[in-house]
Amino acid sequence: MRGPAAPRAVPKVGFVSLGCPKALVDSERILTQLRAEGYATAKDYGGADLVIVNTCGFIDAAVEESLEAIGEALSENGKVIVTGCLGAKDGVVQKAHPSVLAITGPHDTEGVMRAVHAHLPKPHDPYTDLVPAQGVKLTPRHYAYLKISEGCNHRCSFCIIPSMRGDLVSRPIGEVMQEAENLVKAGVRELLVISQDTSAYGVDVKYRTGFWQGRPVKTKMNELCRTLGELGVWVRLHYVYPYPHVDEVIPLMAQGKILPYLDVPFQHASPRILKLMKRPASAEKVLERLAAWRAVCPEITVRSTFIAGFPGETEAEFEQMLEFLEAAQLDRVGCFAYSPVEGAAANALPGPVSEEVKERRRARFMQAQEKISARKLKAKVGRTLQVLVDAPGEGRSSADAPGIDGTVRFRGGKAGEFRHIIIERAGAHDLHGRLA
Ligand code: SF4
Repeated sequence: MRGPAAPRAVPKVGFVSLGCPKALVDSERILTQLRAEGYATAKDYGGADLVIVNTCGFIDAAVEESLEAIGEALSENGKVIVTGCLGAKDGVVQKAHPSVLAITGPHDTEGVMRAVHAHLPKPHDPYTDLVPAQGVKLTPRHYAYLKISEGCNHRCSFCIIPSMRGDLVSRPIGEVMQEAENLVKAGVRELLVISQDTSAYGVDVKYRTGFWQGRPVKTKMNELCRTLGELGVWVRLHYVYPYPHVDEVIPLMAQGKILPYLDVPFQHASPRILKLMKRPASAEKVLERLAAWRAVCPEITVRSTFIAGFPGETEAEFEQMLEFLEAAQLDRVGCFAYSPVEGAAANALPGPVSEEVKERRRARFMQAQEKISARKLKAKVGRTLQVLVDAPGEGRSSADAPGIDGTVRFRGGKAGEFRHIIIERAGAHDLHGRLA
């Protein structure tokens, strides 16, 4: 009598994920598909039958890091598939590492899966029902990024994302809502809405009406926010431009439906530089808009990023940026010295600013902001804030996006729970307090 056949070894795939939250979402999609088809993931190069490297190609340092990661995977394992932004840059990966098995661009789960199938056949009996409905997440269990679109219709002169990722393609609202609902059912307590331009959601499909739970919902940022607000978790918006229709989501923040938090990348304040940057919404009256938002929702936290030393930026134009900072009183600010990304149109502009001046301006800008941020944090001492606990002793309030803003420190708490914290002290970036 023959016994049961020996179980077939499950093919294992190693995964290296580099880059921004958008790349992370791509990684999660690929991992989810791999799991759905019965592949297992390996924890190290040695235990993998092949390795996928999801790369970033945004700035030169990221290109270096990605090429190094591919090199390491090749020497440790030998079978490597490359995906992500660097894969979309003509010939770069091929030239540095000719022995990779396949190269695909970002947002190409199908392309990656085709390459996996070609080099590591699918197991015959995929345990599809073992895939959690929310997919495989790389972020901690209690928060998750929700990517609502891919690509961008703008052509900012310092940016090469549209050439790598193409024009805006909005995900159907029903699909986005389903994913959000699955995440919440699986324990996610905070959804971080991301895209290249969240305020443009649905423009490409003319705000088509989709369906969620049998109800019609338009593919539009405001409707998305309203509907996400019904899920009873924190909803945080990233990459929003100050278009007039953004005003409509501020009441949702004031009513506590979504977090009073807006991440608006202003990048500069000089109209001439903004024009050279070809920034969306650069003609909007930003200061007036900020004042109007604060009048409706005084709790709102506004985060932004800026670029110092853009080609042709004069001392007076830089001063304009400083004046804007003082007038705008933003809560959270990042500033980068202009980095000439290969292939960006801005590199051809006259009047490049020297490295030294760029760095000096960046430092001056951040110094000015530090005072504003410190003042704003100090004003929170004595208040009680709701916090989502990331780990015992550490959490974030509505004002803190994970990884880029500050934290709230206290004793106790369990990851994933909401707690109230009495704020006792403010540092430069973080708040300190005790459980209420
Ligand atoms: S809005 Fe501008 S900076 Fe942002 S992705 Fe589009 S082109 Fe790039």
